[in-house]
Amino acid sequence: MRYVSVRTDTSTRWGISAEGAVQLAPRGAGWADSLLELIEMGPGAASAQAERLLRGDGEARDLNSLTLLAPIPKPTRNIICLGLNYADHASESQRAKGQEVSYPEHLVVFTKATTSVTAPYAAIPVDTTITTQLDWEVELAVVIGTGGRNIPEHEAAQHVFGYTVVNDLSARDLQFCHKQFFLGKSLDGGCPMGPWITSADAIADPHDLALWCDVNGQRQQSGYTGDQIFRIPETIASLSRIMTLVPGDIIATGTPSGVGFAQDPPRFLQAGDVVECGVDGIGTIRNRIV
Ligand code: MG
Repeated sequence: MRYVSVRTDTSTRWGISAEGAVQLAPRGAGWADSLLELIEMGPGAASAQAERLLRGDGEARDLNSLTLLAPIPKPTRNIICLGLNYADHASESQRAKGQEVSYPEHLVVFTKATTSVTAPYAAIPVDTTITTQLDWEVELAVVIGTGGRNIPEHEAAQHVFGYTVVNDLSARDLQFCHKQFFLGKSLDGGCPMGPWITSADAIADPHDLALWCDVNGQRQQSGYTGDQIFRIPETIASLSRIMTLVPGDIIATGTPSGVGFAQDPPRFLQAGDVVECGVDGIGTIRNRIV
């Protein structure tokens, strides 16, 4: 099941998408108003509403007549992100900074501001008076369904609503000069997401997915989610040992090697570049830098 958020001529709606068509949820009377509200209703209510849409309730529309939004355009709180979660990316990053290569023994966690979230095909403005080092990072993102504290690894899968694709756009000059990642990761438009949430039951194994990033049609990143240092169940268990996870939390699970700043010479995004990020089995987002 693919859950989408879209903008019609008149409003923002959610629905189910299949093969170029969308079944939009009706408004009012017990229906969730947004995907976030659907997730907050809990797994039983969410699947009941999705089933009703599959049976023909709601409004059938052509996907091309709608503008896709980030599936959760206004998350409840910051996007939770893992850093250095692929060994090849951890080593390229440290080598580029002239550091000795070592791999994290504990999760490296930072966040992106909610206002960085943008649509899967949105144009992304870059202000060169703020950054001249905008870099790409394709990531598989997990959307939490049922929240909780102290979620054991063997129950973590039951807390996943689904998966989406994120480009963890990173202003390296800000990321490094401010020491803390937050500002460099939180530019407006710095978190394109989508094109939809693929439900957890449609992904047999989230650690058996290829992920990739192209800039102007040239492959920059080519990774495999099975290479993550901390896998999703361990990540959910570790995070929820420290903080309560809430429905609709988005966890970006890190990027593989091939980012721009670690290349020789380093390479960054410029106005006019088109950056595409994809995860097999989920979808592709595509953004032009302007
Ligand atoms: Mg990242």
